[in-house]
Amino acid sequence: MRSARLGFAARTWLAAAPNSARIAAPRRAASTSSTPKLDLQAIDAKWNEIWTSRGAELKHHDQQRSDKAYYVLPMFPYPSGVLHLGHLRVYTISDVLARFKRMRGYNVIHPMGWDAFGLPAENAAIERGINPAEWTIQNIEKMKNQLKVMNGQWDWDREFMTCDPSFYKHTQRIFQLLHEHGLAYQAQAIVNYDPVDRTVLANEQVDANGYSWRSGAKVEKLRLKQWFLRITAFKESLLDMDVLSKDSRWPEHVLSMQKNWLGKSEGAKIRFQVRFDSNNGTTADSVIEAFTTRPDTLFGVQYLALSTTHPIVTEMAKSLPVLQAFLDVADSLPPDSKAGYLLPGVHGVTPLSRLGLRGTIKPLPIYVAPYVLGDYGEGAVMGVPGHDSRDHAFWRENQGAEPIALVVSPSDSAGLIQDVTLVPGAHDQPFVHRGILNASCGRFVGMESAAAAREIVSWLGQVENGNAAEHAESWRLRDWLISRQRYWGTPIPMVHCQSCGAVPVPAEELPVELPKIHGSSLRGKGGNPLEDVPEWVNTTCPKCGGDAKRDTDTMDTFVDSSWYYMRFPDAKNPDAPFSSSSADNSLPVDIYIGGVEHAILHLLYARFISKFLATTSLWPSGGNPEFKAEPFKQLITQGMVHGKTYSDPITGRFLKPEEVDLTDPNKPKVKLSGETAKVSFEKMSKSKYNGVDPGDCIAKYGADATRAHMLFQAPVSDVLEWDEDRIVGIHRWLARVWRIVTEPTPHVGKKKQAHRTETETQAADLPASSAPLPDLSTFNDAESSLWLEVQKTISQVTQSLETTYALNTVVSDLMKLTNVLSSTKPGAIRPEIHYHSLSALLRMMAPITPAFAEECWQILHSTPSTSTATSTLPSPPSSTESSPTSSTASIFSARFPTPDDSVQILGRRPRPCAVQVNGRFRFTLPLPFIGDDSALSSSSVGDGDGTDAVASPPSTSQAIVQDVVFPNASPLQQFVLGHVIGTQDGKRWLVERRGDNALRDIVVVVKDGAVKTVNFLF
Ligand SMILES: [Zn+2]
Repeated sequence: MRSARLGFAARTWLAAAPNSARIAAPRRAASTSSTPKLDLQAIDAKWNEIWTSRGAELKHHDQQRSDKAYYVLPMFPYPSGVLHLGHLRVYTISDVLARFKRMRGYNVIHPMGWDAFGLPAENAAIERGINPAEWTIQNIEKMKNQLKVMNGQWDWDREFMTCDPSFYKHTQRIFQLLHEHGLAYQAQAIVNYDPVDRTVLANEQVDANGYSWRSGAKVEKLRLKQWFLRITAFKESLLDMDVLSKDSRWPEHVLSMQKNWLGKSEGAKIRFQVRFDSNNGTTADSVIEAFTTRPDTLFGVQYLALSTTHPIVTEMAKSLPVLQAFLDVADSLPPDSKAGYLLPGVHGVTPLSRLGLRGTIKPLPIYVAPYVLGDYGEGAVMGVPGHDSRDHAFWRENQGAEPIALVVSPSDSAGLIQDVTLVPGAHDQPFVHRGILNASCGRFVGMESAAAAREIVSWLGQVENGNAAEHAESWRLRDWLISRQRYWGTPIPMVHCQSCGAVPVPAEELPVELPKIHGSSLRGKGGNPLEDVPEWVNTTCPKCGGDAKRDTDTMDTFVDSSWYYMRFPDAKNPDAPFSSSSADNSLPVDIYIGGVEHAILHLLYARFISKFLATTSLWPSGGNPEFKAEPFKQLITQGMVHGKTYSDPITGRFLKPEEVDLTDPNKPKVKLSGETAKVSFEKMSKSKYNGVDPGDCIAKYGADATRAHMLFQAPVSDVLEWDEDRIVGIHRWLARVWRIVTEPTPHVGKKKQAHRTETETQAADLPASSAPLPDLSTFNDAESSLWLEVQKTISQVTQSLETTYALNTVVSDLMKLTNVLSSTKPGAIRPEIHYHSLSALLRMMAPITPAFAEECWQILHSTPSTSTATSTLPSPPSSTESSPTSSTASIFSARFPTPDDSVQILGRRPRPCAVQVNGRFRFTLPLPFIGDDSALSSSSVGDGDGTDAVASPPSTSQAIVQDVVFPNASPLQQFVLGHVIGTQDGKRWLVERRGDNALRDIVVVVKDGAVKTVNFLF
């Protein structure tokens, strides 16, 4: 039955195999010249089936290896139902690293789960009139099937979806922990409201022009009571990223994005007096505090601007209907609006006035301006139109042609220390850089900006009991607004009681489950869908037992993903999100892989929650103190995948595949016009007709070739230009390996066959190698150079997989080794050495091309049929049981090869050196390996450094060396001379045939630690 699915090639093997259940062809079963056809799809199918049936066995093997977990995690997907090439790329990278670590003996955690809440499911459900859960679960099934064909090895026993009550129960528990710690609170806030998706959006979900990132709708502003998480309480520890920048664990650009998002800036808080023109006693004079990073421009302040929520504004709006009318529209103005409302009957006074610095200090007009953020600084801005672009634009909009003062001059204009003003015209530009304070600045004239800023603040701090100014810092980071007025999310586990306020649902009553709502009832309703389910909303207060209502908000899905990585290692824990021992054993995640689009928010929220939980009873130890409860130790951000895109060279119109003539792939033609089509690589999109279905690609080329191609085409963090035509290179490589593995080897010697038992094999680091590697001293030149290539490749590949993550070079290094192995002349190498080289190659390929490597491994170790009893081929343990899988243990229970000490030994073997006399080649002789420079410089004739690197020349040559007079010889020249003269050829050319000519020079060429040529000049 299975054979029917395996395709032609596999059926052929079946027929040849003595045991019909065993699929692998007996290696070199007969001396037929034809090798089995390489059918990658059949190999995929075969091994997927075997791996599935062997899953438990491999797992058991893992557990025996080590207790300490090694955690490789790709960012979990949103179940859209479609696996795209970007997914395939990130999962290939993570699967390669996980398989590599498993082969290195680690107990690897490599899970897969689903970030399953969120808007698309809700929108799709509304469209189709179904429950979002239904749509989500269907999509997960689809994506799981797509995932299974990519030859990934996933811990399916750890799988979860965030929309499952058994998961979100714990999300709710974490919310309550935050609440207990005073880190979850409700506050009125102006929120971004998306009128199309009918939901509140986070600031970062609104683009610079005020449009929704998802629906594209113009975002409106609403005031609602919202839930916030107090991430700002962790700002200092979130800014401390030393442990992440160490050894380039996180990409530099991600660290700086995190830093910018936190946005710590140093500056000062300056207090301006507020004077009411006609103080009738009802309004007391007050103070406006403004934060600035440029106290050096204080002399240039020309107005004050307040946010729409500033207390003074709120107070004045009560008696000023015009102001209230302005506020009503202000919230909906775009963020870059320069609109302002001049508060009547009131002005500000700069603290400088109290120092008597200037003869006349103008009263400062006070505006209400939407561009001032209510929650940044103090909700007030000191307007310096001469030195800030935004303030400049605001001034011109609201004060017209009124002159603008410049108080700081460029550093290189020391001669121009005088008052300057800007008026409308060609040069009406603010000077926004730091410089030197000019004559407007009284006693500070001539001072550099930085020094002046310090001086001004401390000077102001000395007057009015230090109330006028103080040094201060400001952060860009805001608390995290997590409320969403949507159905498909984790319900916020709180009830609202008239008398007790917001009360947490008791822990033992969690989860608060979402009521089942049919998609049709979600349709066409504004506001929050849960409000329309009275039987769910109405409940009793856990505190007083009175009537209460459930909170009808659901959480931002970033809350789910802020802790999901902690769940995988303890995925079935019913009582707690995770146990502290599981967190201690598995966190931080060793390697986290995902797109750079998550470089800010997801990572910041995950860092926050991880650091928070480390302060709670859930994770008392907080893990290894070195990592300061950071969730992800190493971060790899993979680049995007761009698709091959054809466009019309004349109109620029994107062409559909059927509009392009690809008869000559190098010269694609526009069918209609015959013109050569323009080819580019662009972000995949439907409008560019350049999308690629990974499933099609895998069906066409096999999963292994697709994986290898994906890795080979670009470094992991670069954009990958997906060009299927180039996959042929990978195919050629695999075919070459296949030939090496399946071709009969003619140089089978006559050595005794050593058998190992299964147990011995599994215990050994190099399993299934029945013939040990011969003693290195017996290696001939061809064997040495092959084995040195193997060693070099092991070192390079290991470094790439372990340190640099240069996975593209892993593939090219393995291709090079394949070429060396396949160009080895038959008979030049003993079969044992050939076997060990091939074994190392296959084990290094295994993480990248798992099914192909397994198949080759089986063939390499299949028991020779009876006719090849004389073969000395390393023979694996033969299993007599008729296992439906195969007789040899999986290649993944073998170890990844490690370098041996042969480089030290083989690398120092004597190398042939060409001897020239006066530039003409005369003879060659073997010269001892020199090694690095230090060995060379420490060497001298007759005084070896104790290693094999520089052997003492034969003592008989010493006298003859004396005979050939060559004064001031370097140690290297002496070394070469001594060796050459010690030979018959050397004596003949340097002594007997030189006549009366004196030796003028010895030119020695050294390459890779070996003397390549020596030229004796007479
Ligand atoms: Zn109550």
